[in-house]
Amino acid sequence: MSIPAFDPRTPVLPLRAEIDEAVGRVLDSGAFILGPEVSAFEEAFARWLGAKHVVGVANGTEAITIALRALGVGPGDEVIVPSFTFYASAEAIPPTGASPVFCDVDPLTRCVTADTVRAAITPRTKAVLVVHLFGNVAPVAEIAALGVPVVEDTAQATGADGTRADGTVAKAGTLGAAGTFSFYPSKNLGGFGDGGAIVTDDDAVAEQARLLRLHGSRAKDTYLEVGYNSRLDAIQAAILGVLLPHVPAWVEHRRAAAARYRASALADAVGLPADGPSSSPAWNLWVVTHPEADRIAAGLQERGIEARAYYRQPIHLQPAMEPWAPFVPLPHTTQLAAEHLALPISAAITDDQIDEVAAAVAELA
Ligand SMILES: *Cc1c(COP(=O)(O)O)cnc(C)c1O
Repeated sequence: MSIPAFDPRTPVLPLRAEIDEAVGRVLDSGAFILGPEVSAFEEAFARWLGAKHVVGVANGTEAITIALRALGVGPGDEVIVPSFTFYASAEAIPPTGASPVFCDVDPLTRCVTADTVRAAITPRTKAVLVVHLFGNVAPVAEIAALGVPVVEDTAQATGADGTRADGTVAKAGTLGAAGTFSFYPSKNLGGFGDGGAIVTDDDAVAEQARLLRLHGSRAKDTYLEVGYNSRLDAIQAAILGVLLPHVPAWVEHRRAAAARYRASALADAVGLPADGPSSSPAWNLWVVTHPEADRIAAGLQERGIEARAYYRQPIHLQPAMEPWAPFVPLPHTTQLAAEHLALPISAAITDDQIDEVAAAVAELA
């Protein structure tokens, strides 16, 4: 591919010596799971986010399950979740014992809104799992005002900014009761393997998340909960600590790429995303819409441009989700699933590449 869909490698190449040093430090320490490297990264990430606690875990999927359980979600409860998102957002709910209740999204932001969440609330609703999809930011304060605790799936939106109820700007993932992150390599802060984190200002939630990630145990021979083996590796934490200071510049690059796409011929050819209200997205993916998205993707493929749909089959139609059929209509989910197409974007994409993609899409659309 002359223009890949994403490029996690180029931005980290200049950091090779620092990464080698960090990995060597871990090898020399002999401490490979949790330990001082993980604590140091947790503290650095918390400081950067402006959050009180970060709990490093094995991946972004388990971060959701553990965050929900730490908030008290369990059997008999319902958790509202959009159907238009990566499967893991919903998959993480049944392991808590609760049922996912699917809601619709806004057609332009592709995120849940207070209205789409309100339609899915029942007396059993215990939490809302808001997804900051594609790096955009859902209106967390408006949704929290409905009176249901909000957990933010921030896997795709590391570095995005939102607004709190009092009007102050804060990082996505710190706007609700808890936020969850993924350090999967293609995310905005991606490690060299799996990793994730739970973020919260609530001491009790953080404490419970720490317990659950380590087999429900505080001391080695007493097990208080049926928990998980879900820990962040020291090597990943050391690498993430090297990458973290560069995330703001990488996010700025993504924002500039999105702005260039907006100003290009793309705007007249396809549907573009709208920023979430009072937010500054971090565009992990640049997703447009067109009734013939697959034909455009095939045409781009012929020109050496990688473009793809991520969620052609929405989650509520996945075979595993059959027990949790939605009770609200999901018209925007259905349409977005059929029409969305992710165009190349990364922290390394060049202006020439963006112009080439935009011109090709305009020609094909
Ligand atoms: C990547 C992703 C996850 C899961 O993260 P993993 O680290 O891969 O487990 C969850 N939700 C969304 C929206 C994601 O994009």
